[in-house]
Amino acid sequence: MTCPICQQSDDLCESHILSKFVYKPLKEEEGHFYVLSNDPERPTYTIQGGVIERLLCLDCEAKRNRWETYVANKIHRGDLICSTYPHKVEGLDYARFKLFMMSTLFMASLSNDEMFASVTMRPDRQELLRQLLDKENPGSREDFACMLWALTSSELDTRRLIIHPVTVPGTGAVFHRFVFAGFMWIVGDFQGLQPSTTVLDRFLTPQGSLIVNKKDIMDLEFLTDTFAEFRRLGKLDK
Ligand SMILES: [Zn+2]
Repeated sequence: MTCPICQQSDDLCESHILSKFVYKPLKEEEGHFYVLSNDPERPTYTIQGGVIERLLCLDCEAKRNRWETYVANKIHRGDLICSTYPHKVEGLDYARFKLFMMSTLFMASLSNDEMFASVTMRPDRQELLRQLLDKENPGSREDFACMLWALTSSELDTRRLIIHPVTVPGTGAVFHRFVFAGFMWIVGDFQGLQPSTTVLDRFLTPQGSLIVNKKDIMDLEFLTDTFAEFRRLGKLDK
């Protein structure tokens, strides 16, 4: 098997599908991760080091590491959160921030793990994404547009919350939704269509500004049933 990004090297290494930093900051502490599926029949509660697959070559893994490190530092310094929302973050490195999210989507779309089974991409969009990642080109604003929500909760530490990612269809567009590291990460794929300015204003700009809104996890309608079940089982201990 050759590397799915550069399609050249077949010297592949073990790659985290969700970045290592998602798990790292909490390792020293006693605690659990809440790994939730959208299927309320199968809530899972687990401690784990994350899904790893033999996927990228050393060069592509190194590129991805640089993008990841940039975003991890932003998160650890608290640059993406604030006491009041909406929080306008400025001065972001458009390329590194966006390539991090684009690579997370690409890896998730290729993963064989069931955690990522609901992430789907049209083959032509996946190929465009591959080419952009290979050239380290973040693309224009509407190509794999990035949006972020800070997640809050009175019942659990949202940094410990991981929800199975999913691709949600919209009108002429699809939205790939991830929840990890205390945020809901949305990658909007308008599939070649031009979204309105109002829609586009909610996504990361090439000038490096991003409006972060907040959301209480109890308002995530796709998880209402799962949380009700968790609360019933007494598993939402902070
Ligand atoms: Zn490669």
